[in-house]
Amino acid sequence: MPCEVKPRFVVLYGSQKGQAQSIAEGIAEEAEGHGLVADLSCLSQNEKYNLEKENAPVVFIVSTTGDGEPPDNALQFVRRIKKKTLSTDHYKHLCFALLALGDTNYANFCNCGKTIERCLQELGAKQFYATGYADDGVGLEVVVDSWIEGLWKAIKGALSKMASDGTGPLKGNAEDSAKEAPDSSIPDVQLNLLSITDHQNCDSVRASVDTDSKFASVASSSASATSDLRPASPAGSTGLASLPGVTASVSTSAPKTHTGDAGVPQVALAASLTRSPPPLSESSLNVPALPPSYLDVSLQEVDTTEQIVGPVNKETLHQVPISRAVQLTSGDSVKTALLLELDISAYPTMAYQPGDSFDVFCPNRAAEVDNMLLRLGLQNQRNHHVNVSLRKDTKKKGARVPSYIPLNFPLLFVFTWCLEIRSVPKKAFLRALVEHTGDDVQRRRLQELCSKQGAADYNLFVRDPSLSVLELLTAFPSCSPPLSLLIEHLPKLQPRPYSAASSRLRHPGKLHFVFNVVEFPACSRRPAGRRGLCTGWLVDLINPGPVFPGKDESYGSPAPPKIHVSVRSNFSFRPPSDPSVPFIMVGPGTGVAPFIGFLQQREEDRQKNPEVVFGETWLFFGCRHRDGDYLFRRELEGFVSSGTLSHLKVCFSRDDEEATTSQPRYVQHNLLLNSQHVTDILLKQNGCLYVCGDAKNMAKDVNETLMEMIKTELQLDQLEAMKRLAGLREEKRYLQDIWG
Ligand code: FAD
Repeated sequence: MPCEVKPRFVVLYGSQKGQAQSIAEGIAEEAEGHGLVADLSCLSQNEKYNLEKENAPVVFIVSTTGDGEPPDNALQFVRRIKKKTLSTDHYKHLCFALLALGDTNYANFCNCGKTIERCLQELGAKQFYATGYADDGVGLEVVVDSWIEGLWKAIKGALSKMASDGTGPLKGNAEDSAKEAPDSSIPDVQLNLLSITDHQNCDSVRASVDTDSKFASVASSSASATSDLRPASPAGSTGLASLPGVTASVSTSAPKTHTGDAGVPQVALAASLTRSPPPLSESSLNVPALPPSYLDVSLQEVDTTEQIVGPVNKETLHQVPISRAVQLTSGDSVKTALLLELDISAYPTMAYQPGDSFDVFCPNRAAEVDNMLLRLGLQNQRNHHVNVSLRKDTKKKGARVPSYIPLNFPLLFVFTWCLEIRSVPKKAFLRALVEHTGDDVQRRRLQELCSKQGAADYNLFVRDPSLSVLELLTAFPSCSPPLSLLIEHLPKLQPRPYSAASSRLRHPGKLHFVFNVVEFPACSRRPAGRRGLCTGWLVDLINPGPVFPGKDESYGSPAPPKIHVSVRSNFSFRPPSDPSVPFIMVGPGTGVAPFIGFLQQREEDRQKNPEVVFGETWLFFGCRHRDGDYLFRRELEGFVSSGTLSHLKVCFSRDDEEATTSQPRYVQHNLLLNSQHVTDILLKQNGCLYVCGDAKNMAKDVNETLMEMIKTELQLDQLEAMKRLAGLREEKRYLQDIWG
């Protein structure tokens, strides 16, 4: 009997936080169900793939990080394909599709994906399926799910085309496969070719992918049907869906209805995290395939109880004392901003520069870890050592033991320092939890939340309120997942970056940073309020509390608390190396942090080099109230007096005077008022503009204002102004350090 060889394709991913990786793994796992074989590799694993000789379709899944940078594990690849020495037919033989992940709250949306796409096209590669641009700002799955849905047909189309051209990897099989495929009307690969060069096109592709995701098959309930206050029980649930690669359709029998005389529902049931009214409760559901489990986790009793003292990779981190804590906002401010000073004098290698940021490693809150262990029934094993290994029989492609779970460490340590236990559960996690939920009503609701039909409810009850796994498990008491499932699905606990707010020249051996304490207020979907993980932890650490400026600011307690940090150099967000170059800084709120470092450094340089000519400096700062949250007011005014800061432009968004007059309220208004100077510096004097702070609103508004200014100043249309601004970015003269 001839041996059947399934057509193969290649999946390559570049991933910073694991999202692109897990999507790529999902595709590789689903491949078999579509009669295909996927070769999965990370872009950094050069030895595992060879694009120079690849004749199978290649699918790229890549995220973007920082200010539009490639993820670390895609950096080399991007450098390689950007080489000017490569000829324009270098990848003539290559046929590819690309899914780019990004976040529209940040500039340079999906930049890494766009760069790879552009380079491959310039090198002659052909695209067999429109690029998907998934936006984490609204939920990646909106685009990812439908993009993957269409991918299979596109791959088969590409294979079929390659086979008929005689260029494919498996001529016979690909042809067979195409013949066998139920959908033989695959459009010519060429029809799917797209060249996305500008934002408008990019949006239209996104829109088209969105449109594809509308479901024709949502079972609509009859108009008169309403729930009897209980969601339907899952009829025949999950048998199908538990097969790898199978997207199951879970149908439910309609619940009994209670209708009034006129057939009008008597009770309007409000949706909540744990229950749904019709039509969702009566719909057939498309739930994702069950992600294959891949870890074996065992707990080993040990004789000794170890003290938990900090994160695991201590060799690369520095443990430094907090030598000073100052509250920068007044007591009645809406937000609390704190300045912490770290004593880094023991670590001369921590040679940070203004513009650099550094990572703070924080643990999960002890009470939440305790509750998690309690909820999992593991509180008595908290000191047992955790052993994690790969399941021999796993169907998960590219499965690996997570590198951030150290071997033979106590369970308490793993939950405290390694796993982001507050992370919002992804749909794949919800899908996996279904299998460990005893109660039918709860199972059905979990199925709904991870289904296509329940996408709106997922956003409303899970994503938007940042529901944590613990909160989810509390709401679904019959769900008892094994420890291995938590380790498979909870992401790595990430350190939090903060911008350095000092210069070593001014404060030798010290590092300052400034942050707002993040507050998640209680609301109907979150009964108990909470603080951000890291900022809440820092506040607790500096108990009995920070001092206000003007008081004795040295840290009071006998043994200052210590935190683990590591420096993240930012080689582009630096003051111009030529001191004569003028520059503009835009940093409202805590966004002013790096500019305090810039200005301290500039002041020291001016004092040491009186003969040097220094360029103009502008700072646009904004806050709510002049008397409440004008951070660094005295220091900024001091920079103006000394001539270090040529122009300080401050606005207050909530002061009555500003609200009732035509005073500028936000930094972009002040920029506009100084349009002539700003554009002169940027367009005529070769100067630089730096933006730091809130990515969601401020950075976008500033960007739009700059565009308007350039349009007016140079009499350009929208597209030309966009190009001009993009040019400034490329020249590293318009730089952002923003966070959301
Ligand atoms: P987390 O527990 O991580 O919670 C914050 C998250 O919750 C955010 O993702 C936000 O989207 C979400 N969220 C916030 N409020 C709500 C709400 N009400 N409801 C639902 N979700 C909500 N921060 C500074 O203050 N100063 C800095 O100088 C600074 N520099 C940075 C530099 C860089 C390069 C980057 C990437 C970030 C920087 N940040 C800075 C942000 C900082 O790293 C942290 O993200 C921030 O302090 C919050 O951390 P946390 O652990 O307290 O909050």
